[in-house]
Parts: sequence; structure tokens; C-alpha cells
Amino acid sequence: MTATVIDGKAFASRVRDKVATHVARLKDEHGITPGLAVVLVGEDPASQVYVKSKGKMTKQVGMLSLEYRLNADAAQDDLLALIADLNANPEVHGILVQLPLPGHMDESYVLAAIDPAKDVDGFHISNVGLLGTGQKAMVPCTPLGCLMMLRDHHGSLSGLDAVVIGRSNIVGKPMAQLLLGDSCTVTIAHSRTKNLADVVRRADIVVAAVGRPKMVSGDWIKPGATVIDVGINRTDDGLVGDVDYASASQVAGAITPVPGGVGPMTIACLLANTVTACCRANDLAEPEGLTA
Ligand code: NDP
Repeated sequence: MTATVIDGKAFASRVRDKVATHVARLKDEHGITPGLAVVLVGEDPASQVYVKSKGKMTKQVGMLSLEYRLNADAAQDDLLALIADLNANPEVHGILVQLPLPGHMDESYVLAAIDPAKDVDGFHISNVGLLGTGQKAMVPCTPLGCLMMLRDHHGSLSGLDAVVIGRSNIVGKPMAQLLLGDSCTVTIAHSRTKNLADVVRRADIVVAAVGRPKMVSGDWIKPGATVIDVGINRTDDGLVGDVDYASASQVAGAITPVPGGVGPMTIACLLANTVTACCRANDLAEPEGLTA
């Protein structure tokens, strides 16, 4: 079997088109422009690249893009004061504080200062709780992107066996919650899981979010399963995922490549979350197909 390739780049482009259409409607019909504020503390090169590309795509879909930079040695109180200003700014519907923060800052404390309604990363404890209890939440972008691709490929996910490898707060746990919300039978695996290969072999859906290059090999995959590879690992061979694509794509029914799979969906979902936040803030209908 040779797997269908789930093209995340093309999918992300369709998501951005939908966002742009909705943004145009908000402007034309309501005179509202959704706004996204991105805050970068310090000069981490990877973070600078992400922030630049987020700003560019925000503008491309017609939204207001605001960028704030603080020095690496800025006081946490300065960051909190900026967040308070953004919380109060009616032009800002989404706030993203680029992680990681410098070591002297307390990430959880800073994230908790963001208005949950503007928390387009979905990391605020209120949104974590809302998602966990099956209520309307702002959903973390990477798992939201995975869910959209899975729904698109399968239609209904109800009753499917899903294994999520990884239990981080930003990917593994919210991914598991979303799959549960779509009525999958969900197993969360992690570094202490016994017989991981056997656990993965039961799955109709495998989401790998581990950070170990090519860890999931083809002989772990049930024939015909759908494999979503969240991993981004820089190796001497270039960028690779957590799944051994060469062997897994011979067994899986569908698979996301790295690069070009989950990665492009993450920023597209950030834009989707911003337009959703804007609609919710103004009591307007949310765009269809862009939320969990
Ligand atoms: P974390 O390091 O926070 O979590 C990794 C998880 O993998 C942990 O739960 C850990 O288990 C588990 N794990 C580690 N080793 C093993 C093992 N040998 N067997 C089973 N489980 C294991 O990573 P993130 O969730 O933040 O990211 C995961 C990957 O996804 C990374 O490659 C990251 O770069 C990528 N990523 C990609 C994004 C995108 O946009 N495409 C966005 C975010 C992340 P334990 O909890 O027991 O330690």
C-alpha cells in the first residue's frame, strides 16, 4: 500500500482563503477588522522567524497585525503591563506571546494574564478547562490543525481508535481532548508507555508529537491507518518528523509529510482562531469549519 499524502500546505492555503473571506465580510458588513498582536521577548532566532511569518500572513488575510518586541532582560512586570494594555485594546482580538520566554519569566503566570477571550494560542488555564469539559474554548493551533485534516480525510471520526504519542500541554493533551470530543477511543502514550509499538499498532489514527526523529516506524502502523506527524526535528538529513516516512507511507492509508504537513496548518489555525475570537467578541456568527 502507498499512503495518500495529506498535503498540509495546500490545506493551510484553503484555511487562509476561508479566513480572508470571513475577514472581508466582517469589514464590509460590520466595519470590523480582526486584529492579532504578537509579543516577542528577546532575540531567539527561531522565534523571530515565526513572528515575522505570522505577521506577514496576518496581513495577507486582511487582518490588523501588531507586533511588540521587548528586550531579553525586560522585567516581567513590563510584559504584564503590555498584556494588560492589549487586553483593554478593542482593536486587538487575539494576543500571542511567543514562547519560550526568557528564563527569569514565569510562563504560566504570564499566559494567565492574557484575557482568555483573546487567547488565540489556547494556552490559558480557562481555555484548557473549557476544552477539557467539552465547552466552547480557544483551541491550541497545532492540534486544531491536526483535527481539521483528520475530519477532512475521514468525515466522521466517531468510534475510531486513536493513539496520541506525547502528553505535552500544547500538543498531546489538547489533541487527545479534541479526538475524544469527536468520539474517538483515545489512548495517550508517553515516555513511560510499555510496548509502545503494540499500542500504536491498534490505532486507526496515530498522532505523533514526541520530538524524536523517525521514532515511529512502518512496522508499528496498522495497515490503512491515518498517520499525523507533528514532530519537527532538525537533523543532518534536514527536517524530519517523528515518523519514519519512508516505511510508514508503505503501510498507512494516509500520512502527513514533514515538512509540508502539520507545520503550515499551525499558523493558518492561529489566523482562524483570531477571526473566531473577533466574531465571539462582537456576538457575530463564527466562520464554519474553522473551529473545533
Ligand atoms: P514535548 O517535549 O513537550 O513533549 C514530548 C512528549 O513526547 C512528552 O509527553 C514525552 O513523554 C513524549 N516522549 C518522549 N520520548 C518518548 C518516547 N521514547 N516514547 C514515547 N513518548 C515519548 O514536545 P511538544 O509536544 O512540544 O512537541 C512534540 C514535537 O512536535 C516536537 O518535535 C516539536 O518540535 C513538534 N511541534 C510541532 C509543531 C508544529 O507546528 N508542527 C508545534 C508544536 C510542536 P513524557 O511526558 O513522559 O516525558
